[in-house]
Amino acid sequence: MVVSERRLLVRFFQIGSVLALAGSIHVLTLLLPWYTVRADSVSTSVLSGYLLPETLALSVAGGVLAGLSLLVTSFSQRPMAVRTVLVVLSLLGGVLAMVSPLYLGLVRVPALSVAGEPGIGFFIALFSAIVILALGGVALMTRPRVVEIPYQGYGGVSGATVSSTQPMETTSFEVAGEVEEGVVCPICYTSVEAENAVRCSSCGVVFHSGCLDAYVNINGTCPNCGRAVV
Ligand SMILES: [Zn+2]
Ligand SMILES: [Zn+2]
Repeated sequence: MVVSERRLLVRFFQIGSVLALAGSIHVLTLLLPWYTVRADSVSTSVLSGYLLPETLALSVAGGVLAGLSLLVTSFSQRPMAVRTVLVVLSLLGGVLAMVSPLYLGLVRVPALSVAGEPGIGFFIALFSAIVILALGGVALMTRPRVVEIPYQGYGGVSGATVSSTQPMETTSFEVAGEVEEGVVCPICYTSVEAENAVRCSSCGVVFHSGCLDAYVNINGTCPNCGRAVV
């Protein structure tokens, strides 16, 4: 996925949000039955994820690492630094989250030498771990587009004034009033209705007010044009 530098922080913010969600879901599966083991034909017992110290530690660590990535996307304005930390945290967290159910299913349960079958928690834990790993991959493949500065020719703008780091311009957001049919919020990709829409006064892009508030509180800029919000 190649996106412009400006949109990179938005993209990483989105990835971080989904990572935090997947991490939370993973930790919550600890409360669900991970395995049902049968000692004999009458007595069965249910193993929840939190009952074993190993799975508890691995899954909580994995989930927390995934959740931390959202904090990182919130605290840094440098896309490439955010990307590195995002990739490291999600791959590390994803591996820990993945090892947790596999350890139970492939090491602990066979060691009990009883019949056992994985439960709903086991599968959700495994799936959420895969999601965390996949998001790490997505973050890894998200790169800024190389911006080529067009040749200006004679009498064009001199090289010195063409800079990739423009002076910090400012913008503000206003209630959008009317929103055209089918407009989607660039943050959450769902459609925007007039009653909760705000518009950037510089670039004119429409966002959900809730989505925008969350982004601006953290980054202080318009997610689309990157101008500082005053
Ligand atoms: Zn939205
Ligand atoms: Zn804007």
